[in-house]
Amino acid sequence: MTDVTRPRGRTPAEGPVGTRLMGASHDELAAELAAADAELSTAPPSTVIAWALERFARRLVLAASFQDAVLLDLAVAVDPSVPVVFLDTGAHFPETYAYVELLRLRYGLDLTVTEPGPEATAWPCGSERCCELRKVAPLRAVLDGREAWITGVKRVDAPSRASAPVVGVDPVFGIAKVNPLATWTDEDVAGYERDHGLPRHPLADRGYPSIGCAPTTRPVESGDDPRAGRWPGSAKTECGLHR
Ligand code: SF4
Repeated sequence: MTDVTRPRGRTPAEGPVGTRLMGASHDELAAELAAADAELSTAPPSTVIAWALERFARRLVLAASFQDAVLLDLAVAVDPSVPVVFLDTGAHFPETYAYVELLRLRYGLDLTVTEPGPEATAWPCGSERCCELRKVAPLRAVLDGREAWITGVKRVDAPSRASAPVVGVDPVFGIAKVNPLATWTDEDVAGYERDHGLPRHPLADRGYPSIGCAPTTRPVESGDDPRAGRWPGSAKTECGLHR
């Protein structure tokens, strides 16, 4: 993947990354986004994406997990030049890297691929700071100076996401967080894939309904919790990007 933009420059310290740039206090931002959430709570994802692009223009980024193509397909239909980021932990399945490239070419994505900082080598896969150094810190660097990010979070993903708003203030980064698929089910996603003939992740039909890093993702049996294969044998259910 040589023809993508890699983020450069300093890694911002922990804490909010962009609120001050909006010229609004945290309370003002929260009130604005709560009103937007109420308005958009039953809107289709493309309407939510269009609202975000109008409100934040290029001061947002879409974080794609590349588990499926649904969010990307919806977003590029609204704006083909929407900025996209893939958090490359260095530990993804080979099939995921192939899928990233497939979708990058299919949609002509404006894609940034992050990489772990040098500190990450001291924290191997699955260790306490692995996700922080391979995912959270690189995303924080990408979000520095931005005002919003778009995610693929769905309420059905996990109990910790059950009350995820469509639009709100991100508790980790202090900027707007837009979840266009918040109200969708796994069946909605599968139906959209079918109806639009989207290419599926190569592992999706091999027992991997939820796909993270290779060392910490296992296939699950039919009928099992789709996320049962993530961090198996561990109490961990989130990597720190979403709270
Ligand atoms: S998902 Fe697993 S391998 Fe990937 S960054 Fe987190 S702990 Fe490390």
